[in-house]
Amino acid sequence: LFVSFEGIDGSGKTTQARLLSDALRRTGRDVVLTREPGGSDGAEQIRRLVLNGPAERWSAETELLLFTAARRDHLERVVWPALDRGATVICDRFADSTRVYQGTTRGDLRQTVDRLHELTIGTEPDLTFLVDMDPVAALSRADARGGESRFESMGAAMQTRMRAAFLDLAKCHPRRIVVIDGNRPADAIAQDVFAAFRGRSLG
Ligand code: C5P
Ligand code: MG
Repeated sequence: LFVSFEGIDGSGKTTQARLLSDALRRTGRDVVLTREPGGSDGAEQIRRLVLNGPAERWSAETELLLFTAARRDHLERVVWPALDRGATVICDRFADSTRVYQGTTRGDLRQTVDRLHELTIGTEPDLTFLVDMDPVAALSRADARGGESRFESMGAAMQTRMRAAFLDLAKCHPRRIVVIDGNRPADAIAQDVFAAFRGRSLG
């Protein structure tokens, strides 16, 4: 079973991915908690190439190719082997992040994103949690944390656009993507996530 968490920067994805994996491990499941961009040695190197360099180092197209290469390596080395042995894989961001960030933030690359995905990735999560959150609150959380976030300097308007892009995706994939209200304490959100997981999956 392949589960992803998606949402804008500062929405609480990483916390929720960890809480779900802890809860599932307590039930005895074999759980692999991983993340993108990254999740394998090669993909983590690509993550650093893109996120730690100057913003204009890569064109939008090259950035898309790099993140797609990272995803392919992560799938080959980590995700597919884990799924093959029957593990539950929980991924902090996956292809929906590429659809939103590489697909819409530096011009409209959505068609290229979709075609590349079809040609080189193919895999889609069985279940995706979109942690939906007020963009201004998420922004101040991401700001407070610092780190590798790329978009907070562009402000609330950008966050608002990206939130809308994630919600549009959820509308297009209503069976795969479950929208969770992230404007609440982490444990309340986690309870909803767990309930939806049990409702959708095999236990
Ligand atoms: O989720 P995480 O904090 O690890 O993401 C690091 C940064 O990379 C964030 O600013 C996020 O918006 C950005 N990102 C991106 N394209 C992706 C995934 C993440 O620009 N496909
Ligand atoms: Mg995070």
